[in-house]
Order: sequence, then C-alpha cells, then structure tokens
Amino acid sequence: MSRTNLQVLLANRPTGWVQESNFRIVETELSPLGAGEVLVKNQYLSLDPYMRARMDDVKSYAPPAALGEVMVGETVGVVIESQNPQFQVNDIVSGFLGWQQYGISDGSNLNKVTVTENLPTSVYLGSVGMPGVTAWVGLLEIGKPQPGETVVISAASGAVGSIAGQLAKSKGCRVVGIAGGKAKCDYVVNELGFDVCIDYKAGNLVADLAQATPDGIDVYFESVGGEILEAVLARVNTFARIPLCGLVSQYNEAQPAGLRSLISLLFNRVTLQGFIVGDYADIWPSIAQQLGQMIASGQLKYNETIAEGLENAPAAFIGMLKGQNLGKQLVKLA
Ligand code: NDP
Repeated sequence: MSRTNLQVLLANRPTGWVQESNFRIVETELSPLGAGEVLVKNQYLSLDPYMRARMDDVKSYAPPAALGEVMVGETVGVVIESQNPQFQVNDIVSGFLGWQQYGISDGSNLNKVTVTENLPTSVYLGSVGMPGVTAWVGLLEIGKPQPGETVVISAASGAVGSIAGQLAKSKGCRVVGIAGGKAKCDYVVNELGFDVCIDYKAGNLVADLAQATPDGIDVYFESVGGEILEAVLARVNTFARIPLCGLVSQYNEAQPAGLRSLISLLFNRVTLQGFIVGDYADIWPSIAQQLGQMIASGQLKYNETIAEGLENAPAAFIGMLKGQNLGKQLVKLA
C-alpha cells in the first residue's frame, strides 16, 4: 500500500529571527521498508529551542540541520510496520525522526517507551523526556541545591524550567522563577508551587529580583542569558553555582550579547558550567524513570501547549521562541 508522508524541510538558513519561509512543506511517497527497518507513525513532534541553533551553519555540539532535508526533531509514535526483530507493531517509540508524519528507521535512533499508566505518550517528549532530564541534570548534578538556599530559575514556566523549579522546591529551597507576563507568573506560583515569580517584562527586573532574593542567590538555573543573566550576577552569593542550560534570548540575535558582569564570577568564586543533556546518557534512564513516577503520582506537575497538524509546526516553533507556549511545546501529528 503506498502512503503519503508530509514533511517539513529546512529550506534556507535564517538571518536573525527565524521565519516560516525558512521551512518548506512537502508531500512525498513513503518507500517500502528494507531489511531491518521500522515504519513509525509519529504521534507528537517536540519543538525545542535548540532547533534554532541547528538552523545555523556554525560549529556546535551537533552538526547543523542540512538544507533541503527534513528538519531535525524528536518524535514519539507507534510502530506500524517492522522488518526489525527488536521492534513489534504497536510498540511506542521515541527518537529523532524529524518534522514528518512518518519515519523510517533502522532502529538505531529509536527508544522503546514503557508507558506508565495514565500518562499520555506526549510526556516522553517533555517532563519525562529530554527537557525533564535536562532539568534534573542541571539542577541536581550541577546546581546541587541545599535546603534553605535560594534558587532562581529563568524561563520558569517552560518545559525545562517548570520541572527544575519543582525539583528545587522538593529539596527545601526558596525558589524564585522568572517568566514573561502575569499569567505565566501566576501559573508558576499557584500551580507549580514556586515561592515567587518575577515578570521580567514588567520593567522592574533588577528591583524585583532584589526584593525576591533578600539572602542573595545560591543557584541560578540559566536558560535565557542577556539582561536576566546580568541581573542575577549582581546578586549571586559566594560559591554560587550556575548550570548554564541555554541562552534562548540570544538564539535569534545576529550579534549575541556579551557578558558585562564577568567580574562577579571572580569575586564570588562562582561555578558556571555549561552542559548538554546528551552527555548524561548513563544516568538518563534512571532519571527518566524517577521523573515518570513523580509525574504519575502528581508530585510533579506539567503543562503542554499543543499545536494541531504538521503544517502548523513552523508557526508553533516561532511562537515558542517568542514565549507563546506554557510548558512543553508540541505538535500533534496523529
Ligand atoms: P521553553 O518551554 O522554556 O520555551 C522557551 C521559553 O523561552 C519561552 O516560552 C519564553 O518564555 C522564553 N524566552 C524566549 N525569549 C526570551 C527572552 N528574550 N527573555 C527571556 N525569556 C525568553 O523551552 P525549553 O524548556 O525547551 O528550553 C529552555 C532552555 O533550555 C532553552 O534555553 C534551551 O535551549 C535549553 N535547553 C538546553 C538543553 C541542554 O542540554 N543544555 C536541553 C534542553 C533545553 P517567557 O514567556 O517566560 O519569556
């Protein structure tokens, strides 16, 4: 039976802000499976800030997305045909199959998902997937928060920040979120249980941060960069830790901002460590399992913003980079 596959290709590389015209949507015929191959019907596509960096042809921890090829991205879906003894029809799998409705794989880039009762498969791209593990690694392995310490989380209402902040609360910390807009801040405090959330768009970031961190800042989970990083560096305590997870405010800047307050790292003997979650493959399964239990039991809360249909993926991606998501940004494909 011939099947049509809808795909989103990287048409050209953005200069500055990503545009929908950087992508091209095409329909192709799926080829029959070869020996050892698996056909996956993708259910959800994950949209992540790192994809913006992959659109640039620069030296990075991973090669750039190739022009004219399916845009890189992680999906979760169901195996609908298999010529590979390791995968059976109806297996739920996640993997980097890209922005497309169907993916053909030799199995090497697929992980079987053991679905925890009552959880939708989408969580394996969010709180129980890469963003959740990122939050855990950055906060607990690098930030190492101690009870009573003050932890500040930027992009606090997002996929990573929402989990990082709740984990910090569970360690007995005072947790201060930073997010864009009152609605997001209300969610962060009232639903996620952070102590305070600062609306950085309200225009009083420096004063609001000072008021929210009377004892200074011991751990800063950094996802944003720019003015927010500068404001935090003015308030860090001696021997503070900064897991450098991301710099989302800079990804679309043709000329990213520098760091003016470097001297604060010196005077306060701060540890600032960049990290990439893929380097933690050895502890990933154990972390994901623990996150799954915490989500299933309700100990950790999460939210998803779900766009409908692959053709809406470019707009949803740009919207996520502009802060239109609350929690994990996904595209529902099937
Ligand atoms: P989010 O769900 O947090 O979505 C991105 C958010 O970034 C937006 O909702 C927006 O929230 C915020 N944002 C965008 N522009 C700005 C700006 N100029 N200033 C402040 N905030 C801004 O995404 P993720 O949770 O998936 O990712 C969060 C960070 O973690 C990113 O930097 C990402 O690159 C990084 N990351 C790093 C990984 C690693 O291995 N190191 C792995 C996964 C993610 P708001 O409305 O509050 O502004």
